[in-house]
Amino acid sequence: MTGLVLDNITKRFGSVAAVDRVNLSVPDGSFVCLLGPSGCGKTTLLRMIAGLEEPSEGRILVGGADVTRTPAHQRDFGMVFQSLALFPHLSVGENIAYPLRIRNVAKAEQARRVEELLALVRLPGFGERPVSKLSGGQRQRVAIARALALQPRLFLLDEPLSALDAKLREAMQVELRQLQQRLGITTVVVTHDQREAMTMADLVVVMNEGRIRQSAPPVDIYRRPADTFVADFIGITNLIKARRGAGDTVLVPGGTLVGIALPTEEATISVRPEDVRLVPPHAAAITGRVDFVRDLGASIEIYVEADGQRIVAVASPRERPDLRPGAPVGLALPADACVVLGA
Ligand code: ATP
Repeated sequence: MTGLVLDNITKRFGSVAAVDRVNLSVPDGSFVCLLGPSGCGKTTLLRMIAGLEEPSEGRILVGGADVTRTPAHQRDFGMVFQSLALFPHLSVGENIAYPLRIRNVAKAEQARRVEELLALVRLPGFGERPVSKLSGGQRQRVAIARALALQPRLFLLDEPLSALDAKLREAMQVELRQLQQRLGITTVVVTHDQREAMTMADLVVVMNEGRIRQSAPPVDIYRRPADTFVADFIGITNLIKARRGAGDTVLVPGGTLVGIALPTEEATISVRPEDVRLVPPHAAAITGRVDFVRDLGASIEIYVEADGQRIVAVASPRERPDLRPGAPVGLALPADACVVLGA
């Protein structure tokens, strides 16, 4: 069953299309991350799904029903904002019970549900504590519990972890993903952090300038980027200028590749640093010189200059490449790791 369908959704502010003809189909129970640079329209898209913003065009369907004109409070969605919007003067339990209280849920049932939600977000026994006495991660969990109190059909989060420090943030990413899997609730999260998206999502939706550039599972986004924007935005990649050579060869700065088909006379090849192999110069497809070596402990990045093109290779410390700046070096690019993108 399809959880959420966005059918040609557009939002214009004056003459600017903040969201431009977005089509997306999210299977029931999956976790989607809307990912993209600042201003790409991801928050506007989430706000339209939530009912906080009305689309200029298009339809939003949840579980097959058209909710495009349904007011936000009648959509039965749970929402967590970056600011969390907790009530500082209320206790943890009162915050979580708030949506139940305004729906006139019986007191005993409220108490039962609060206990259940506290256990779910791993804060058992925290009901009486003032929200003001909690750590950042604990507040985050209270906001999540409150959003889940009414067992929403859709769980929407806007940059929910961005206020947390890096370590806690990574831990909360795993926690949020595990919670979502336990509940099986269709979830849409806005983030500008690609690592966060890769950690949590079944489906990563990469946006730029109001449009979807690619929507696919994280590994596909990384291994098979649809265009140079996606390749460059997700992780680190080498974008190498290529043109057709004699026979079935491909000419690139510093050398020649075989086994790759270019659809046009000129194109760009994306190859990830971990797929670039260091080989002796005489055995190499590409030759160049070491420009800079960055030893990060866990990995070593080797920056190579090949006829005006910079190519980054990553080696493991165990390989211990003995390469100093200026040394000649050979590079091999396995054909199956090279993704050909439009020029
Ligand atoms: P960020 O990561 O910085 O929050 P975003 O990807 O969420 O960015 P949006 O907030 O959706 O982007 O904004 C998309 C575009 O729409 C931006 O150019 C923004 O300036 C514009 N925009 C958003 N809301 C409004 C509004 N209420 N009125 C006018 N323009 C708006």
